[in-house]
Amino acid sequence: MDSNILASLSYGVYAIGVKGEQEPSACIVNTVIQVTNTNPPIIAVSMHHDNYSHERIRETGIFSVSVFSEDTSGAVIGALGFNSGRDANKLKNVRHRVLAEGVPVIKENCCCWFLCKVVGSAETATHTVFLAEVVAGSEKVTGVPMSYTYYHEVLKGSAPKNAPTHRANPSSGSQSDAGRFICTVCGYIYSDPDLPFEELPEDWLCPICGMPKSVFVRK
Ligand code: FE
Repeated sequence: MDSNILASLSYGVYAIGVKGEQEPSACIVNTVIQVTNTNPPIIAVSMHHDNYSHERIRETGIFSVSVFSEDTSGAVIGALGFNSGRDANKLKNVRHRVLAEGVPVIKENCCCWFLCKVVGSAETATHTVFLAEVVAGSEKVTGVPMSYTYYHEVLKGSAPKNAPTHRANPSSGSQSDAGRFICTVCGYIYSDPDLPFEELPEDWLCPICGMPKSVFVRK
């Protein structure tokens, strides 16, 4: 079987908010699904064992989901998705609100948010699938939810290495690589025939992960 066939599955882009030891934290996932429409409903989230958020969910049994919209900046995904909450206050430059439970929800043009209480989990070698009841959330949805395809094709982003959908080589293989530069941190591909990479200002930053030009390599 060609494992690339799994890339035909559809995903969204979500922030998972957790109660940190010192301060609230959040990470990006693309795998959130509704499992039941019972009252309360149950959702499932897949998360890598190495993620700080995984550790915090195991510890506290509670997390939030913020659903990104097509108007959510790629820089927000970069701030939450390509660092570890162990090393940085990832929410420092991200507008958010901390719920009474100590869990943050993201306020960067998100469609909606909901608060989840873990009721079960299933283990794989690399990821835990958390099952959780939705115990509170937004009253309405604003904007168009961001699909992973939109993130990939319009924002030119790729999955962080711990995402279940991560691909070692994000190249589509169908376009010429001439003049294309790839961010070695997040996989973003710069390709603008009107403005070659070499002519970008020295203080230009990757629009997805915020890293400088020096981390880019020619494809
Ligand atoms: Fe980047």
